Amino acid sequence: MQTKEHPTALVTGAARGIGEGIAARLLAAGWNVVLADVLAVEGRRTEAKLNRGRKKNFGRAVLVLCDVTDEVQVAAAVARAVKEFGRLDALVNNAGIANPYNPSVEKLSLAEWTRKMAVNLTGPFLCAKHAAPHLRRAPGGGAIVNLSSTRAFQAEPHTEIYNASKAGLLGLTRSLALSLGPQVRVNAICPGWIDTRSAKESAAAAKRENHAQHPVGRVGRPADIAELALFLIEGSRSGFITGQSFICDGGMSVKMVYEE
Ligand code: NDP
Repeated sequence: MQTKEHPTALVTGAARGIGEGIAARLLAAGWNVVLADVLAVEGRRTEAKLNRGRKKNFGRAVLVLCDVTDEVQVAAAVARAVKEFGRLDALVNNAGIANPYNPSVEKLSLAEWTRKMAVNLTGPFLCAKHAAPHLRRAPGGGAIVNLSSTRAFQAEPHTEIYNASKAGLLGLTRSLALSLGPQVRVNAICPGWIDTRSAKESAAAAKRENHAQHPVGRVGRPADIAELALFLIEGSRSGFITGQSFICDGGMSVKMVYEE
């Protein structure tokens, strides 16, 4: 068992993508990380990759198979984190169905609506519910970071479920910040386009115009989001910030949208 000296985070959907990037950044900063995901094979591969070459006295990654829509599994994942590492200091609600598109509203089934809302919005509620008692006791103060999206503010046709779930997550963020304060700070990150493919795949598929349309000159990477997540989690630098949402999109959302 790891010592209780290391702060511990539970990151949902951490088998790949942005969640994996956040887990890697937390580990590099000395945190223990519980990777909670539904993907067993990818999850084990990520767990092994993150623990490879781990420096002594640095944090450790542990995979827990968990569907965030299942309250029993969520409670078990939180219990496992506390059993394994002796404490829980941060929760990152990252798991989500990231494809924003749905059938036209006339053809959209209640089952599809309910499933995506369950993963993207009910999951974060369940995780916050079960993590809260432990986060309140975190020695340096607890933190929750919710992964919303710029799509909480901007819409396209046929994205009703995703937009509603990500906008709802901002409401949940603000309310939790008041309910769980002062012991726990709760914030949200709204990423823009984050390329989660490997550097090699990404370079092969890169289109110049994809990067060029961004005011910063490139599409985002998981590390961009991970750096902001770490800042929001570690209260030493962000202790006066709670209930907020932070857009991290390379400047895309400030551009004027009217066509000439
Ligand atoms: P990915 O699909 O690459 O990774 C999400 C992970 O969460 C997958 O491993 C996925 O498994 C897992 N997951 C899905 N459902 C559940 C569940 N019920 N319980 C536990 N784990 C689950 O997504 P990204 O890394 O791209 O996105 C991460 C978060 O960031 C999402 O919330 C997304 O909406 C948000 N975001 C992403 C953006 C982007 O451009 N990438 C932009 C804005 C926001 P499986 O593959 O089986 O579904």
